[in-house]
Amino acid sequence: MKKIYIEALGCPKSIVDSEEIAGYFAKDGFVVTENPEEAEIVVINTCGFIEPAREESIETILKLAEYKNSGRCKKLIVTGCFVQKSEKELKENLPEVDYFFNLDNINEIRKIIDPNLNFSLTERNLLTPSHYAYLKISEGCNNNCSYCTIPAIRGKLKSKPMEQLQDEALKLAKKGVKELIIIAQDIGNYGIDIYKKKMLVPFLKRLLNLDRFKWIRLMYLNPQNITEDIARLTSENKEICNYLDLPIQHASDKILKKMNRKTSRSQIERRIEMLRDINTDLVLRTSIITGFPGETQDDFEEIIEFLREIKFTRLGAFKYYREEGTPAADFDKQITEEIKLERYNRIMHVQQNISQIKLSKFVNKKLNVIIDRKINDSVFECRTEYDAPEIDGIVFLEDVKNSELQVGDFVKVRIIDNLEYDLIAKEI
Ligand code: SF4
Repeated sequence: MKKIYIEALGCPKSIVDSEEIAGYFAKDGFVVTENPEEAEIVVINTCGFIEPAREESIETILKLAEYKNSGRCKKLIVTGCFVQKSEKELKENLPEVDYFFNLDNINEIRKIIDPNLNFSLTERNLLTPSHYAYLKISEGCNNNCSYCTIPAIRGKLKSKPMEQLQDEALKLAKKGVKELIIIAQDIGNYGIDIYKKKMLVPFLKRLLNLDRFKWIRLMYLNPQNITEDIARLTSENKEICNYLDLPIQHASDKILKKMNRKTSRSQIERRIEMLRDINTDLVLRTSIITGFPGETQDDFEEIIEFLREIKFTRLGAFKYYREEGTPAADFDKQITEEIKLERYNRIMHVQQNISQIKLSKFVNKKLNVIIDRKINDSVFECRTEYDAPEIDGIVFLEDVKNSELQVGDFVKVRIIDNLEYDLIAKEI
């Protein structure tokens, strides 16, 4: 049996691209292995977003290149955002790689597999556990945040037509997917390029009409795109998770303007208030960048004050990276690494306390969870609708007696305790 190993680095969008690559190879009889040592083909889907991600990509390429000597690997293929950003330099510096290819031309992969093969991709080959999958509704971004390389790497917004997405969603449902996670760089902009208006809500209604998913999760909705319609959809449809990921990045108007985020602190506050008025059960996640050029101690204290006021349940903080080619790289008053780290640590500390208090409110509640993994016969790793896979918290289901429970099953549990970011539960 021919085997392929795929390493997807970076964000969930990279997982979707990798699943398409796996789908192409499956057409030529390849099956995905989790062990690179036994793979004839090794693919690395790189991330080029920030310097640490590029360093990780290089380290991974060099590490997996060793299987050309010690394993069965015959072809080492590198693709992804880093290739789109720096293909020429990578080709010059990494002779151990057999092929580089650009994700904009994913069809090119047919030439690598076999130039004589004539087929097109019909299905993704899932790399996630089969009970959840990502649906990437658009590629690229028009927002042009001043620190971000994505528009330069992945180009302008390219939404997929609704019919195509519906078809993709149905295929995922047939594979047993119960939780569909909607992603894009900013899902709120979906459709403006091809339909000339924002079409997230009509698209979600279409998905709901399919009636094929237990959970539909919305990730990466920029605050300026939060609308009452979206809030109502989350509150009126039990299939849409009571969960929204709203990357705000900062709370000071001065910094938001320099970031070109097209929003202000008061606008973010008003939208969150509206969301919570319409859906009192909603759990919010956000992300924050610390140490953006020109961020004074007062600007930073404004974030802390804002986080204490809004109390996001989940938060990811990132230190600002000076990315060549972005407007912010040329801004004056760049912040030292030491201060960035100090501010990052302070945010995480503040958030840890908020998260712990928020999670303590779940104790004694009955919740539906999905089983992601069996740790052993009596302890399972699960998630509530309030947690996205990989980035949010876990529910540890303990003392499991029901031997018929499988990964991907939904179980009713009672939360008995909380940790800083996770919950402990028992079966009901
Ligand atoms: S919304 Fe801003 S940060 Fe996100 S991908 Fe687009 S330009 Fe980058």
